Amino acid sequence: MTRYVYDFVEGNKDLKDLLGGKGANLAEMTRMGLPVPPGFTVTTEACREYLHTGSMPSGLLGEVEHHLRMVENQLGKAFGDGEDPLLLSVRSGAKFSMPGMMETILDIGLNDVSVTGLARRSENERFAWDSYRRLIQMFGKTVFDVPGEEFETELAHARDAAGVRSDAELDAGQLQDLVNAYKKVFHAATGRDFPQSPHEQLFLAIGAVFRSWNAERARIYRRKERIPQDLGTAVNVMAMVFGNRGARSGTGVAFTRDPATGRRGVYGDYLQNAQGEDVVAGIRNTVGLADLEALDPGSYRELLSIMQRLEQRYRDLCDIEFTIENGKLWMLQTRVGKRTPAAAFVIAAQLVDEGTITLDEALQRVSGEQLAQLMFPSFDESAAPEPLTTGVAASPGAAVGAIVFDNAEAAAATGPVILVRRETNPDDLPGMIAAQGILTSRGGKTSHAAVVARGMGKTCVCGAEEVLVGDNTLSVNGTTLRAGDIISIDGTTGRVYAGSVPVSPSKVVRYFEGELTAHGDPLLAAVERLMIHADHVATLGVHANADTGADAARARRFGATGVGLCRTEHMFLGDRRVLVERLILAGNAAERDEALAALLPLQRADFEELFAAMDGLPVTIRLIDPPLHEFLPPLEELTARVARAEALGKDPGHDGALLSAVRRMHEANPMLGLRGVRLGLVIPGLFAMQVRAIAQAAAARVAAGGDPRPEIMVPLVGAVQELEAVRAEAETVLASVPGAPPIRIGTMIEVPRAALTAGQIAGAAEFFSFGTNDLTQMTWGFSRDDVESAFFGRYFDLGVFGVSPFETIDIEGAGELVRIAVTRGRAARPDLTVGVCGEHGGDPASVRFFHDAGLDYVSCSPFRVPVARLEAGRANV
Ligand code: ADP
Ligand code: MG
Ligand code: MG
Repeated sequence: MTRYVYDFVEGNKDLKDLLGGKGANLAEMTRMGLPVPPGFTVTTEACREYLHTGSMPSGLLGEVEHHLRMVENQLGKAFGDGEDPLLLSVRSGAKFSMPGMMETILDIGLNDVSVTGLARRSENERFAWDSYRRLIQMFGKTVFDVPGEEFETELAHARDAAGVRSDAELDAGQLQDLVNAYKKVFHAATGRDFPQSPHEQLFLAIGAVFRSWNAERARIYRRKERIPQDLGTAVNVMAMVFGNRGARSGTGVAFTRDPATGRRGVYGDYLQNAQGEDVVAGIRNTVGLADLEALDPGSYRELLSIMQRLEQRYRDLCDIEFTIENGKLWMLQTRVGKRTPAAAFVIAAQLVDEGTITLDEALQRVSGEQLAQLMFPSFDESAAPEPLTTGVAASPGAAVGAIVFDNAEAAAATGPVILVRRETNPDDLPGMIAAQGILTSRGGKTSHAAVVARGMGKTCVCGAEEVLVGDNTLSVNGTTLRAGDIISIDGTTGRVYAGSVPVSPSKVVRYFEGELTAHGDPLLAAVERLMIHADHVATLGVHANADTGADAARARRFGATGVGLCRTEHMFLGDRRVLVERLILAGNAAERDEALAALLPLQRADFEELFAAMDGLPVTIRLIDPPLHEFLPPLEELTARVARAEALGKDPGHDGALLSAVRRMHEANPMLGLRGVRLGLVIPGLFAMQVRAIAQAAAARVAAGGDPRPEIMVPLVGAVQELEAVRAEAETVLASVPGAPPIRIGTMIEVPRAALTAGQIAGAAEFFSFGTNDLTQMTWGFSRDDVESAFFGRYFDLGVFGVSPFETIDIEGAGELVRIAVTRGRAARPDLTVGVCGEHGGDPASVRFFHDAGLDYVSCSPFRVPVARLEAGRANV
């Protein structure tokens, strides 16, 4: 029979699938002999069954009762006892951490009888009533969906009636009144009394935690974080310990290193006389963890030594939840902690220095996404005005946008916005996703806003206490701003500015550009070290997509070892457009040759620049690809111009000729029309002109003492015969240019037919480069330019795919074609070079796939080159 419940002493940190992260880590801490309140974990499997069938798996409740008795025996207290009750917490905990997304209910087991028993036993009446009101509130919200505001309103009334500002100042009698008010709220909303049976409370709570897996906000979070929707959550049931017993009690959060910068030291927040979520919710302002030393030196020392042991055990930064009850320290949670991208690099390098992990492991501790985030710009300090105020630097980056106060407004906004809130809670998630940045007036580095923003890599300043958030206004030190006003927030320094502050490039970018050295800078030193190691272990090369000498030079500084894609059509824009028009409008061969002759020297000069910038490295040049009518003005515009001219009785002249050309060339499906290799086959001389320009430019570079390595790439080939025809013409041209180096000819693989017939095509191609944008679009049969707004949202909801196939390669579809083409191509020509030049070349998950598929290199935009280098290294350790 399946077993659904495991005692904390039975599990360990590697059982996250079954016990969830929280449960597995509670078990690990228990095994380490750390002070963890006794308890047990109901497995994720039980949750999946419950969500599937809608009822508790048979046998589960019996198992829970059995394990509950073990906890009772261990503590010498009985659940439901009227005099000295054992109270429980019922906590969600999935395989992947989803901070604040699911439910936890504290103080389970209290009722009208035991609350008085607890008050007498603890000689602290206030504490007993406070616990009871928290139970009714959390239980009502979680199990019966009683709107949270109804409890908050009563709480606010109670504070007003008592004339106090914080909950902690309410006395026992006032809290007892509040309990009565809460019970009325509960009855009014549910039509029943608050359950007095502790066992009923427990079972209802377990079911509610199971169901919280499917809460809207949890689903959104998982979609965003790419966590599968079908894992389910485990439920941890454990004895309560109380941080709200008075001044010798409290609750806190700690990190073994600074999750913002990675620096070693004592980081965390502590709140005296408080329970559970008070710290995380940012409801009252906390003190720094270092201040605990003065408040309770014994617990402080014990905590520091436990933190050290946890770091050794997990070999990484850990974050911790703890509670102190009358001077006794209890550990309530630990996990490998989330961190900013900068901290990830710094910590990985530190752990190598400390001898804890190897360089290979260090590569696994950082990601291309994190590096990409470090390459975002930040504010130009010298151009910044006086800040309005400074809050807690909770999540780095620079964000500028219009103020919105409401999460729905943020989600609906079209331009960049900054979400401004007193504090955030999980219901604000859609707004947080939509906003450029988040500003709150309350809460520390561990508040909801801070934790979630860091997880999303979004700029956040929190706890800006001078900011007073009113109804649609924000005032700070005499300045009032309204919804729609622009502000700038700096998540690296915590500064908040009115208006828009100019942004300057990232330190990491300046380092890659060669403007800064890594010396003396922990972040740059860590980046340098890990990049060197990544390049050392990688077998997949990284080239860049670059159309100009300047782009190629930058790509080279960023570590590219070639140009994987030069788009020649970009050389036909601007004032050269007239030449293309002339080519299109040419009435006879002589006019056409004249137009081509005019384009030749321009192309040649562009190529020379490119070869100079990439001297000694391959430069793959794609012959012209887009339909030629893309170079002409749009049909509507021309029609209007011609109509206007005719209305004025004028001769439309050139416009008239263009209009009839546009009409003639109109295609119903331009992306499937006259483009790529087809252009070369039907427009005489076009490809030949480009090939000649390449060969002449290379010859000029050779003559100048350079080492040009051009390669000619033919786009959109679907059949080997197309390539053979272009190849024959190109070879003739190449042979006619004296002094040119050998130039390889290859093809893009971007039409499904090319992938399938790659064996034949390899006969005429010395290299392949996968154009994964077109390949994806043609494999799925949908247009990249139209689908995202049209139906992708629905596809995400239906789970057709979790991420856009234009962002991350669709391994089963387009990816399978890549594998087929690599295998068939190499079988026909063993020394075939194979690369990829679509957007996917800079996408971390796709880079890993291309490595696995055995490609020689990926090519991506210059800015993504470091990201791809890092991922290429990570893919091979
Ligand atoms: P989350 O996953 O959202 O952090 P938790 O399950 O960790 O939710 O619980 C929420 C809060 O309740 C945390 O601050 C935690 O420390 C506190 N808490 C949970 N269990 C207990 C307990 N047995 N005794 C005291 N406090 C608890
Ligand atoms: Mg927690
Ligand atoms: Mg293409």
